Amino acid sequence: MHIQRKAGLRQGKKLSLTSLFTGLVTLVVLLTTTIIMVGSYDSKKQSLMETTLHLNFSNADRMARTMDSLFQSIRGSLAHNAQMLSNVDAMTPEQVGHQLELMRNSSNYFNSIVVIGKDGLVRNVEPTSIGTAGKHITSQAAQEALELKQPYTSAPYMTKNTNRLIVFLSQPIFSNDGTYLGILGGTIYLQENNVLSSIFGNNKVDDFGSYYYIVDSGGHLLYHPDKHLFGKDVSGNEVVQKLMKGQNGEQQVRNLNGNELLAGYSSVPESGWGIVVVSPMALIRQQLIGHIQTIIAYSLIPFIILLSVVILVAHRLARPFAYLADLVSKMGKERIVLPPVKPHWSREADLLTKAVFLAVADIQKQTDQLTQEAATDTLTGLKNRRSLEYTLSQWMASGIPFSLIVLDVDRFKFVNDTYGHVTGDEVLKHVAGVIVSSLRPDDVCHRFGGEEFVILLARTRPAEAFNVAERVRRALEQRKGPIPTQVTVSQGIAHYPQHASEQAELLKKADQALYRAKSNGRNRTMVAEDNPAAPSA
Ligand code: GH3
Ligand code: MG
Ligand code: MG
Repeated sequence: MHIQRKAGLRQGKKLSLTSLFTGLVTLVVLLTTTIIMVGSYDSKKQSLMETTLHLNFSNADRMARTMDSLFQSIRGSLAHNAQMLSNVDAMTPEQVGHQLELMRNSSNYFNSIVVIGKDGLVRNVEPTSIGTAGKHITSQAAQEALELKQPYTSAPYMTKNTNRLIVFLSQPIFSNDGTYLGILGGTIYLQENNVLSSIFGNNKVDDFGSYYYIVDSGGHLLYHPDKHLFGKDVSGNEVVQKLMKGQNGEQQVRNLNGNELLAGYSSVPESGWGIVVVSPMALIRQQLIGHIQTIIAYSLIPFIILLSVVILVAHRLARPFAYLADLVSKMGKERIVLPPVKPHWSREADLLTKAVFLAVADIQKQTDQLTQEAATDTLTGLKNRRSLEYTLSQWMASGIPFSLIVLDVDRFKFVNDTYGHVTGDEVLKHVAGVIVSSLRPDDVCHRFGGEEFVILLARTRPAEAFNVAERVRRALEQRKGPIPTQVTVSQGIAHYPQHASEQAELLKKADQALYRAKSNGRNRTMVAEDNPAAPSA
């Protein structure tokens, strides 16, 4: 009981084979697609990162080389002009000014040029509009350079007078006999048009948002897309630290704002500066998302086609099984008409269909046989009392009018007593045979029990039924039976609905007529009386 209930519950939750197939394959396709997508994302990310890093490094390297040779030229220019000024003490301010003008015109390396005597007095400045000529130098960088007496490059610093962020480069001036005379210095205004911006142009490495910045040997920003950051100390940056050690390379790095960047970096030996080309990781991710979107867009239609095909195949595959399940579930509830077996491309489906069809046909045959047997009298082969009762209730429920003949063998006890039971049975079989042969095709004879038979005649009036009964009775009279004695029968007839509207009542009416036949001398037929109160005929 408990098990049955559980099984019933589970039955409710069960999925159809088609849904299972479809679901399973859809799941497999989706999972596979996801795995491929993740794999593709990963490898694409890896390759994008590698490519970007390489590209950034090669850009940084190229720019570093350019800048290195630029610096060599700047240094060369400074050295050459310092040489030209080796007799600066003998030159008039105009001559020096002329030399500086020449220098500025031949190359535009510097935003301004200055000649400072060893006493720290500014002798000449170009352009003269700066107006520091004749004044003492104030900047720490110039003082350092003056004391150093060697080629010098300053860290970026703010000028006091003009509030400009500048880098100061200088070359010592020696007389021909080696006396130190002062310095020839040049400045680069970092935040204005200068030699760097004219060479490297705008700060755009590619169209994907990569950019570069330049740091000096002390880790200060000399060049950056954000001009406000010029001069800022970024020596805390991992990449800048490597540059400060003169290293080149490429790596993933987090900048001081915490953003992930792909950096290629290269140092400039001549100046000790370094160039970093960076691409934000966010851009790589954006590209990757675009890549995945493209994959999805391209694979959507094939995916839908694949899924439709899968669903179709699943349907086709599941159809014979679903049909068989349906068929089997109908068994016992209704009569199954088996269609011709259609071949299926699935071997199992084919075999199973054939097997189930055979089994169903066999079971139906057996059921039919059992049903037949359950309705048949074994001795005579006629329909039995159960069958009679069934037919009676059916006809009555359908309102079919009919006549009923109750037939009883006369003095059968005598037959049994005289010839024995076995012969008695033979006599019963004989009687059954004669009855059947005397009936019309639609009349049905039942063995009611013992030596009593009941014949049903659909849509037959009592008068006609009487004729049929008489035909049976006379046939028995005429036929020779298994015993020497003549076998006769008495019969009672009743009509539905003329004589009764219920089974028991109808049988009773026929029995009463039979009784009258017996009492009137047997071997005769009597019809039930319309009025039970009327005297017997
Ligand atoms: P009546 O003319 O009044 O019908 O007399 P009867 O002897 O035929 O009536 P009764 O009902 O007294 O006897 C019927 C006998 O039929 C009794 C029983 O032994 C016998 N009988 C009932 N069924 C069978 C059967 O299947 N085979 C045989 N051989 N005899 C049966
Ligand atoms: Mg009897
Ligand atoms: Mg009898």
